[in-house]
Amino acid sequence: MKFKKFGWNGVFFQIPEQMRFTRQGGNSSNGHIVLEAEIFMIEAKWEPYDQKKAKPLSEVGARLVQEMEKQAKKKKQIVKVLRKEDALVYKHKALYMVVRSPAEERVYMWYCAESERVFVWRFAFGIFDEDSKKMVKRVLNTLRCHGDEADVWSLMNFSFTVPRTFLLTETKMAVGRAHYMLTDRHLSAFAESAKSIFIEYFSMANLVYEDTYKDLGKWLEKNYLKDLRKQFKDRKIKLRPVEARRFKRHKMEIRQATTTSGFSSRRSALYSNATWYCARTNRIYTVTASSSIRRPIVFKRDSGEEDHKNMMEDFLSSFKCH
Ligand SMILES: [Zn+2]
Ligand SMILES: [Zn+2]
Repeated sequence: MKFKKFGWNGVFFQIPEQMRFTRQGGNSSNGHIVLEAEIFMIEAKWEPYDQKKAKPLSEVGARLVQEMEKQAKKKKQIVKVLRKEDALVYKHKALYMVVRSPAEERVYMWYCAESERVFVWRFAFGIFDEDSKKMVKRVLNTLRCHGDEADVWSLMNFSFTVPRTFLLTETKMAVGRAHYMLTDRHLSAFAESAKSIFIEYFSMANLVYEDTYKDLGKWLEKNYLKDLRKQFKDRKIKLRPVEARRFKRHKMEIRQATTTSGFSSRRSALYSNATWYCARTNRIYTVTASSSIRRPIVFKRDSGEEDHKNMMEDFLSSFKCH
């Protein structure tokens, strides 16, 4: 069995190559993901918890079994807990259960004080065999639910790293197209500033964008700019080309825009966009970083251009598109 890396909202682990990322919801403190293959699936959930009031894991486990029973009852099926024991998941004491629901389930739950989340991790199989065992072991051995390093996001054949302060604020995964918005927001008495990184890709690009995929300037104008303006709620975005360079054997084009708006309080924003066609995955990737600040007009404009540039460059150097 071959494995690939997967990272989402501060959880990082390896999964069998054939697994598909089919569902997700929530954010880094309260969320869930579902990964599926033909005969098995992984469902992971996490929630914030109060360290002083945390219930024993056995209670969390009992509640889950109750929920499973409720689901099973509708289908006239029975849930059986076959085993319950202590386990260890990435330095955390965990509760491990073997449940027949009637799928063969291996359930792990634990509190992660470092990331202040409680995790419930379910592996479900049609048949639990040697391969299933290996799979569970690999996932758990590679699993990281907290750490000091920057967040690694690794999904759908591409990966990147962002500082921990960036949170996933919006995402959409559709056929042939997916996007992820990560935002780092700061509020102070006089100003509100935000940094965002917006990643989007388009699949089967040589087919869907037959006439423009080789001319990215045209592609942006024709297929993307409108969406980008909508995404950032900024109608004034006008991208002007600043640079073309190599990026992992692809030709990458960099564009920039600055906008200002507002009367009594002024919002100024800086945008950098990098767009390239990755022949290996036949995707057009387009990444837009924005730094914006809103404050009363009496304040002088501090452009923060250097910071903005560094954010974009750090991000791009971490990005793997194929
Ligand atoms: Zn942890
Ligand atoms: Zn590539």
